[in-house]
Amino acid sequence: MANIVSDVICTFCGTLCDDLEIELSDDGRKIKEVYHACAIGAEKFLHSQAEDRITRPRMQDDDGNWTEVSYEEAAKYTAKILCDAKKPLMYGWSSTSCEAQSVGHEIAEAVGGMVDNTATVCHGSSLIAVQDVGIPSCTLGEAMNRADRVVFWGCNPAHAHPRHMSRYSVYPRGFFTGKGSKSRKVVVVDPRKTDTASLADAHLQLEQGRDYELLSAFRVAFRGEKLPDFVAGIPKDQIYEAADLLKSGRFVIIYFGMGVTQSLGKNHNIDIAIGLTRDLNDYTKAAIMPMRGHYNVTGSGEVLGWQFGFPFCVDLSRGVARYNPGETSSNDLLIRDEVDAVFVLGSDPGAHFPISSVKKIAQLPSVAIDPHLTPTTAVCKLHVPVAFVGVEVGGCCYRMDNVPIESRKVVDPPEGMLTDQEFLTMVLGEVRKNKGV
Ligand code: SF4
Repeated sequence: MANIVSDVICTFCGTLCDDLEIELSDDGRKIKEVYHACAIGAEKFLHSQAEDRITRPRMQDDDGNWTEVSYEEAAKYTAKILCDAKKPLMYGWSSTSCEAQSVGHEIAEAVGGMVDNTATVCHGSSLIAVQDVGIPSCTLGEAMNRADRVVFWGCNPAHAHPRHMSRYSVYPRGFFTGKGSKSRKVVVVDPRKTDTASLADAHLQLEQGRDYELLSAFRVAFRGEKLPDFVAGIPKDQIYEAADLLKSGRFVIIYFGMGVTQSLGKNHNIDIAIGLTRDLNDYTKAAIMPMRGHYNVTGSGEVLGWQFGFPFCVDLSRGVARYNPGETSSNDLLIRDEVDAVFVLGSDPGAHFPISSVKKIAQLPSVAIDPHLTPTTAVCKLHVPVAFVGVEVGGCCYRMDNVPIESRKVVDPPEGMLTDQEFLTMVLGEVRKNKGV
């Protein structure tokens, strides 16, 4: 009989699918097949088994040559660069467990670090808007069971969250949506003809960066007031029609992504999208939800919130937590030359930050803690490979709708490899020794 592990959580994207089945070899050491995951989710599990995987920490010299070091040496180096720095940047956190995040934040507090996560380049603007005006939201389960009007604004789940539509938003049969996709009308707002847009009942192909105007126009259209002939390049009749479609639903859910959080207007776009959702509640039930990318970026905001009161861009350099996105955000700090060491865990700024920031990281004492080889590990002085959360070690993760889900261990990590929580605990011990506390 096949050796199958069921109800496995996919720790790739913020959908955190929890229905995977993994077939193991008879001795339980190798992953043979991954069932129910999308292509990217399956690849995460299979890739963890790669023959050429780096399994020990490595230091890079000035000529780009790598030398293997022990985890103890790696922990000492990491503690030293953090303790020596006046203002170390501790960035990432979104692809690891809440338990590891919490140990990392203890280190940050001890060394007076700047703690920031990947929201700084994706949904940070959503977090600011939620602090400004609150958010009427719901869980993905509620949306699956109730939502008969689904809006995807500036997001493309067909590619970024491949099972979102089949598990929650469009295709599944829910309690009040018994005919699956036939129970729902889908509206996509996107300047591009995406694969998600090709499935929609209505695609509003607005002009790039004019989301704020179109969101305002919807609020006007809900009240039946007059609109100009075109708003954001969309004819007014199309806007009235889409507004009526939403008002006629029993439950509207608006999912939004980086197309609206990182385009012109940023957090103000989200402020008004939340205002629009509130307006819709005068006619029907409506909720709004960010499409979070990394599988535990939501958890990072939660853990930072419990520990310091702010979800990203936390400055601990003055002994108390400060928060001022735009000043205390990673790229602003790097561009202004304000940080003197860089620690990266569970993210890849080398791939996602502007090249000027990546060059700064390459010039500073730096460490990247990551199971993969990435553009970030290539520029950092120390690379510490760790076990894959959700594959080789369990841990708590938060789905995009703020529901905590306990991920599972499926196989053992390579012999002698530490988890990121174990490595961070070693670093914390070294930091305490250095500080004499
Ligand atoms: S949709 Fe996301 S969480 Fe689900 S299987 Fe694909 S990558 Fe994994």
